[in-house]
Amino acid sequence: MLWTVTTGHPSRFRHRRRGPRRTLRLVLVLGAVAALVAIAVVVVPLLRPAGPRPLFQLPVACGETWQLGTYPGHDDYDVDLFPTEGEAWGRPVLASYAGTVTVAGINGSLGGRTPENPEGPRGRGGGYWVKIDHGGKWETQYLHLLEQPLVRVGQRVAQGDQIGRLGSTGNSGAPHLHYEQRRGWEKVETYFDGSASGITNDDTEYTVRRKSNNCPTG
Ligand SMILES: [Zn+2]
Repeated sequence: MLWTVTTGHPSRFRHRRRGPRRTLRLVLVLGAVAALVAIAVVVVPLLRPAGPRPLFQLPVACGETWQLGTYPGHDDYDVDLFPTEGEAWGRPVLASYAGTVTVAGINGSLGGRTPENPEGPRGRGGGYWVKIDHGGKWETQYLHLLEQPLVRVGQRVAQGDQIGRLGSTGNSGAPHLHYEQRRGWEKVETYFDGSASGITNDDTEYTVRRKSNNCPTG
């Protein structure tokens, strides 16, 4: 008490000097908190390892045999699917595994290749396409669909749900399904029903036949 009396207006004086320091400290603390939140929300999920590989199935109807193939200039791990029997145009394209649709739209340009005009102008990119997030950093994508996908962004799909119809939109020579499996940012070798497709690079033309076990369960 004695001190406050002898120094005139000490409380006011000290208060003024402390103000900016307190503000600075507050800014630093808030900055640190914001940085920690950013690390928790953005960085940690990026560093977290991918989950186990989902039990993907061929994206085509149960029991059908399809040809899986690649060719030089395609891209490593990319798979093109053609039916071994019946008309390719309009065939159901199914979800390989349950997940959430993250893309359902147009990649590049559609071009003009249709069942009525199969030699029409070629488009660019993937044409009508769908991407599904299966959780655990696993994704699948389905390109060159015939028409606007049958699913919407944000929609939950079950394994075997039809997501579109096979077509030849985008940069496609003939009706087929271009298909990829991804873990994080990288494409990986496609697995179906627990076994690898064997398509790991596009150095040479390669085809293999597989039967779809994308069958209703229960
Ligand atoms: Zn392809």
